[in-house]
Amino acid sequence: MPQRAPSVLALILFGPPGSGKGTQANLLMERLGIPHISTGDMLRDHIEKGDAIGEQAATVMRTGSLVSDEMVNALVKQRLTEADCARGFILDGYPRTRQQAETLTRWLATDGVAQVVVHLVVDYNSIIKRLTGRRQCPQCGTLYNLSSRPPKAVGVCDLDGARLVIRNDDSEPVIRERLDAYDRQTRPLIEYFRETGMRLYQVDASGVTPRALLERICESINGQSGARGV
Ligand code: ADP
Repeated sequence: MPQRAPSVLALILFGPPGSGKGTQANLLMERLGIPHISTGDMLRDHIEKGDAIGEQAATVMRTGSLVSDEMVNALVKQRLTEADCARGFILDGYPRTRQQAETLTRWLATDGVAQVVVHLVVDYNSIIKRLTGRRQCPQCGTLYNLSSRPPKAVGVCDLDGARLVIRNDDSEPVIRERLDAYDRQTRPLIEYFRETGMRLYQVDASGVTPRALLERICESINGQSGARGV
């Protein structure tokens, strides 16, 4: 790990699939000027390249289960050594298991970097609705939602006119498995964050626009709602 200043922020966006972590991570990246690291996006990049990591990950991701800790830990460890992470970073979709959380804590403790966890709380029905209605532009990556953010013309991207696609793992049976994996392996991390005394903010992320949610998150981490600042 490179040497980091003590004020460096490791912001962990935590929450179930469909809670809006990716959208918020992008908005926070603009606001805070630190990179967005999404393990899901990293794995999808490898799948697109068709390399060995991608081949292994694709088999698992198709089912909605989690890929191995060893694989994601190696990807994140490598990413965190890059220069743009020196001032801080936003983690989206990582850590997702106790083993990942302990590994990350070990790495960051060496540098004295504090972890701040923002837990996006969303009810189960909204999640199913969001994920089944999610559409993405394969060219520019813009995300749409049939109910909350439909494209101007049915099925095509507003920005470049490409035909929108449904992510491979956004079919209902796979969504159920992803939620199951979240309940079994990821949700229990909240206990771990508490036990280890991490700064943890629970933010209600249901029925709110992405911009309004961004403000809620920033207020929480800046301590304007009674919570401690970063
Ligand atoms: P979502 O949060 O909506 O499930 P992601 O893009 O974060 O979407 O993850 C998609 C899939 O990638 C997961 O279902 C899992 O198979 C794999 N994945 C992503 N991050 C991790 C991780 N930290 N550990 C294990 N598997 C992961």
